[in-house]
Amino acid sequence: MRLTVLGKSPSWQDADGACSGYLLEDDGTTLLIDCGNGVFSKLRRYCDYTAVDAVVLSHLHADHFLDLVPYSYALTYAPRQQPVPVDRWPGIDSPARPRLIAPPGATEVFRRVVGAWGNDDLIENAFELEEYEESSRPQVGPLQIAFHAVPHFTETFAMSFESSNGSGRLTYGADSSPNDEVTEFARDCDLLMIEATLPRPERTGMRGHLTPREAGEHGRAAGAGRLLLIHISDELDELWARDEAAAGFGGPVEVAREGAVFDI
Ligand SMILES: [Zn+2]
Repeated sequence: MRLTVLGKSPSWQDADGACSGYLLEDDGTTLLIDCGNGVFSKLRRYCDYTAVDAVVLSHLHADHFLDLVPYSYALTYAPRQQPVPVDRWPGIDSPARPRLIAPPGATEVFRRVVGAWGNDDLIENAFELEEYEESSRPQVGPLQIAFHAVPHFTETFAMSFESSNGSGRLTYGADSSPNDEVTEFARDCDLLMIEATLPRPERTGMRGHLTPREAGEHGRAAGAGRLLLIHISDELDELWARDEAAAGFGGPVEVAREGAVFDI
């Protein structure tokens, strides 16, 4: 499996950046993990958006799904998706309609979002939408996906990816407060992508995110082979975050950068 970071920003984009979006490729199969604001543009830099087999979402926060809107417009209105020939494009009988593997309740949330301007069925028409449950184990080509609920401000699922081609196991922690769920779910994975949103723990209200130190500690508790910090702003010091996480992990840690590639 090959992972490419498309966007790693938290809920507001880095300069020239994008929110959560990760491209996972294996033996000709292409999967997009989350599709936050800015991700569609980055996706186009690395692959043909009509060739994506599936998009899988961890949760229904804006920074993890908003670019489904432009992606849906592209699948619906792009000249290459039309049945009749137009300049440069020969016309197509069966336009691309990637799978959209989304959390429970996603159909209704999408309708409310795009329904705000009267396009209620935009996303469900553009994609082959399926809602998963925690026990679902969807298969996309050689890739097997598993889910595990983690504590966050809304229903959220960590996800793991394994390939029948015999590569390693990738775990994506999604967004979460400190918890044992993600460490158990990620046990002994080869690469753990874990959020490191906060410069310090939340001072009020419920917790919903991790600091880099906590991210490192979770990686150590999981026994992860490698640790990749994600969901981190360019307004935090990358070297500080890396050192904090490395101290918690007990070994070297990488901080996600757009375009970074990881073979698993
Ligand atoms: Zn979130």
